[in-house]
This record gives sequence, C-alpha cells and structure tokens, in this order.
Amino acid sequence: MKKLQRDLGLTYVFITHDLSLMRNVADEVAIMYLGKIYEMAGAENFFRNPLHPYTMMLLSSIPTLTEEEERLKPKGIESRGEIPSAVNPPKGCRFHTRCPFAKEECRTKEPKFEDVGGRKVACHFWKEIRDSRIS
Ligand code: SF4
Repeated sequence: MKKLQRDLGLTYVFITHDLSLMRNVADEVAIMYLGKIYEMAGAENFFRNPLHPYTMMLLSSIPTLTEEEERLKPKGIESRGEIPSAVNPPKGCRFHTRCPFAKEECRTKEPKFEDVGGRKVACHFWKEIRDSRIS
C-alpha cells in the first residue's frame, strides 16, 4: 500500500480499530465515537499529544514494544464503562458516560469542533484536561 501510494500519488481513507497499524500507515488521523468525529490531527501530534479524552483512552490501551512507546502512552485514563447504543447515543457529548473528566455541561451540551493550531478537537474542557496532565 505504501509503495502504491508513493508511486501513484494516492490518498487512502483507511478505517481501522487497530491503532498500532494506524501508527504505521497514517499521515492524518480522525477519531470517531458513536458516529461522530471528536479529534483530527496529524499522526505525529495525535500519538504524542492527544487532546480528547477518548483519544487518550484508546492510546492508553494499545500494546507497546519499546520503552519510548510506553512512556508516551497517556496514563490514568484506562478504558471504562460500556459503549452505549449508536442507535440512541447519549445526549450532549456522546462520550460523557465513559469520560473521567465529564461535568454537568457534558451531559446536555454537544461540544463544538475547535481549531487548535492546525488540529481539531470537540471537548468542552480540552484545555483544562491538557493543563492538568502537564502539571
Ligand atoms: S466534553 Fe466532557 S464528556 Fe466529552 S470528552 Fe470533554 S470532558 Fe469528556
């Protein structure tokens, strides 16, 4: 696939649940939860500095081969709860039933996509969450 892409100048839309595989093929990444995109970023940014809690949760669950990969994994946001029905998704932020950072606003108000320096994220509290994880 990489060779064809290089030789023919192709663009692929590659849909997968396998983040390890995605790490090897993607230049740009979009993360969907219950049919809605919640984060879009270049692959480097996505793996090194995820902004959305669902992205963090996914990245924290992938197996790693090296200490460097293990070091980069988000900590303290392991997968929890059951995925709700996509036919009748939760109101507000669809991820609020599983998000460890959810507040009242998340249950009623759908987060808008925000442009964050060339990437996009839909979370009411992405700045606070990012800052609390840095300090
Ligand atoms: S909007 Fe709220 S529930 Fe949704 S990801 Fe952000 S903090 Fe979590």
